[in-house]
Amino acid sequence: MAEPGSDYWLKLGTTPEQLMKVAEEYRTMAYAPYSRFFVGAALLMDDGAVIGGCNVENSSYGVTLCAERIAMGNAVSSGRVRPLAIAVAGDADSFCSPCGACRQFLAEFNPNMDVILRKRGRLVSIPLSSMLPYLFKLEDDER
Ligand SMILES: [Zn+2]
Repeated sequence: MAEPGSDYWLKLGTTPEQLMKVAEEYRTMAYAPYSRFFVGAALLMDDGAVIGGCNVENSSYGVTLCAERIAMGNAVSSGRVRPLAIAVAGDADSFCSPCGACRQFLAEFNPNMDVILRKRGRLVSIPLSSMLPYLFKLEDDER
């Protein structure tokens, strides 16, 4: 199994570009009739599995679910709880970064995972730990 922070891309035989392509495929399935803001996400798990999700809106806006949380839920439902990276695909012309709720949700499973985003037409890889400093934990590790 590849460990977070290692050169797992080579070991698992995939690339950030391929992961983004899967996220873009999931984006086409997004259910976003209210905002028309379509998002897809794809997780690379430590066993090499790639698991995606898309945002699912609701007429009761507050219960809308983001693509990142749907993807992570799909991963857990398949018995996988160790993500190494996630690609998030929004509109190609805009920078689409995970919301605060998704950052916390993903950090539960790997606070050091890489977040692959598209910025000005190029892919960038940002450690989740730098996007969510001082994350909430039920147990305080610092004691
Ligand atoms: Zn979100």
